[in-house]
Amino acid sequence: MNTVARLPDCNHYLDRIAATPLIPVRLDSSGPTIWCKLEFLNPSGSTKDRIAGYILHKAVRTGRVAPGGTVVEASSGSTSIAMALASAQLGLRFVAVMPEGVSPERRMIIESYGGEVQFSPRAEGILGALAGAATAAAERGAFLPLQFENPDNPAAHRSRTAQEVLTQIPGGCVDAVVSGVGTGGTLVGLFEGLCDHGCAPTAFAARPVTGTSLGGGGAECCSFSGRIPGVVDGLSTIYTKFRAERSASLVEIDVPDDEAVEVARRLIRKGFPVGPSSGLNFQAALMVAGRLGPDAHIVTVFPDRMERYFSTELFARASKA
Ligand code: PMP
Repeated sequence: MNTVARLPDCNHYLDRIAATPLIPVRLDSSGPTIWCKLEFLNPSGSTKDRIAGYILHKAVRTGRVAPGGTVVEASSGSTSIAMALASAQLGLRFVAVMPEGVSPERRMIIESYGGEVQFSPRAEGILGALAGAATAAAERGAFLPLQFENPDNPAAHRSRTAQEVLTQIPGGCVDAVVSGVGTGGTLVGLFEGLCDHGCAPTAFAARPVTGTSLGGGGAECCSFSGRIPGVVDGLSTIYTKFRAERSASLVEIDVPDDEAVEVARRLIRKGFPVGPSSGLNFQAALMVAGRLGPDAHIVTVFPDRMERYFSTELFARASKA
């Protein structure tokens, strides 16, 4: 039985949201133009609404979670907020497991959607949260979306985000897709979706590396600097598999994290209310433009909104810049 069909028609808007805009962005009058998908315009403020809506709708439709059932996800960031919103829409209970020490605002947002927050030991980072989520899901008989390995994560971007890009980009094809990798869902899904339609893009994975002027950033679990929330190294089986299978079409590009943060501030001053990973993506895209030339169609995403970062270095310096 199609359980989604039993949901009341009122209140539900997640599957009625229009495409996010894909717009040409140029920071310097002489600089290259980058096509940027404004993912901060999604309802919870990040691109993770895409995967939360897709994964949870499918889980309900296929009976992996019953109406009124429970969803547990390990995430200290955008995914838990998006899952909390989507769960509220779909009438599901939601439990976020996150390391102690995340900002009170994140907890308040999740709880305001009716979600629950459980904390894992701070010292164990995201790995402790993943272990805590597995335990909590087993105890509650809950659905565990597992964003770092669930093929429905890239499938959401492949079937929807990539299609939007194809209808929005002049000429209908893309030479390069550029994104920092957390789960890899964005980069992998965009790439595969474009290939499905006969484009032959190169995928550029932006890797934030420690910049010089501000020093290192206390890596959470990885070789990355830790200053770009949401972009982490080595956690994603989705990306590991993609790298093994699509190495001929994949380039990893190191971006100094100082530059990523500064570019995010410049984007904000242009009126884009973005977080640090948008700066990373844009700076990486500029580096790609340097390689491919001014006529290349280069697409990247602005994954989330600046309001989540008021208490971080992004704003500590923005007011003085
Ligand atoms: N930016 C932000 C702010 C994120 O939260 C994430 C995902 N955690 C990413 C970028 C990377 O996206 P993906 O997980 O699709 O690789």
